[in-house]
Amino acid sequence: MTARIIDGKAHAAALRARVATAVAGFREAAGRAPGLAVVLVGEDPASSVYVRSKNRATAEAGMRGFEHRLPADTGEAELLALVDRLNADPGVDGILVQLPLPPHVDASAVITRIDPDKDVDGFHPVNVGRLASGLPGFVPCTPLGSLMLLRDVRPKLAGLDAVVIGRSGIVGKPMAQLLLAESCTVTIAHSRTRDLAACVRRADVVVAAVGVPGLVRGDWIKPGATVIDVGINRTDREGGGTMLVGDVDFAGAVDVAGAITPVPGGVGPMTIACLMRNAYVSACRRDGVAVDGRVDASGTPG
Ligand code: NDP
Repeated sequence: MTARIIDGKAHAAALRARVATAVAGFREAAGRAPGLAVVLVGEDPASSVYVRSKNRATAEAGMRGFEHRLPADTGEAELLALVDRLNADPGVDGILVQLPLPPHVDASAVITRIDPDKDVDGFHPVNVGRLASGLPGFVPCTPLGSLMLLRDVRPKLAGLDAVVIGRSGIVGKPMAQLLLAESCTVTIAHSRTRDLAACVRRADVVVAAVGVPGLVRGDWIKPGATVIDVGINRTDREGGGTMLVGDVDFAGAVDVAGAITPVPGGVGPMTIACLMRNAYVSACRRDGVAVDGRVDASGTPG
């Protein structure tokens, strides 16, 4: 069997286009554009690239972007004061503080300071609790995008055995919650799991969010399983240079799985598309405008 390759780029482009249409409707109804504030502290090159992509996507969606670039030595009090100002600003519907923050700043204090109803990243403990309780809130963008891809290839998830490898608050745990809400039987594996291969072999759905290149071997995959590879790892390319690879040995898994996301071009592009979706939904909630069903075409939670 050769797996269906799940085209995350195409899915993300389609979602971004649906969000742009929905935003145009919101602007007419509300008389303003949704606003997304992005806060970047320091010069981390990867973070700068992400922030640039987010700004571009925000403009393309027809939303207002508010970029706050602060020097690496910005103190926690100053950052908290900025978050307070953004919380109080009626033109700001979503606040995203780019992680990682410099070590002298308590990231959890900053995240917790964001108004949960503007927390479009879904990292605030209130939104974590809402997800766990099945209440509307904001779902973190990477697991949300992963679920959208998964639902597209496996519309009937109820009863399936799913394994999520990784238990971070950003990907693994919320992904497990989403799959549980879909009535999957969920195993969460992590670095202390005794027999990872056995967990994966049982699974109809495998979500790998680890950060170890090629950790999940092709011969672990159950024939026909759906594989969502969240990992993004830069490795050396044979013959020089570097390349991006996932947490799954793609070449080995592609002959066994039913469907698989490539890296790059799988989950990655969905993250920013879901951020746009969350910012738009936030604006709708804040102004009492009905959310355009097309941004939730795949049964989006949160
Ligand atoms: P973290 O480092 O926060 O978490 C990694 C998890 O993997 C931990 O729970 C850890 O277990 C577990 N783990 C580590 N080694 C093993 C192992 N050998 N076997 C089983 N589990 C293991 O990473 P993130 O969740 O932030 O990110 C995971 C990956 O996803 C990274 O490659 C990252 O780049 C990528 N990513 C991609 C995004 C996208 O847009 N596509 C967005 C965010 C992340 P333990 O808890 O026991 O330490």
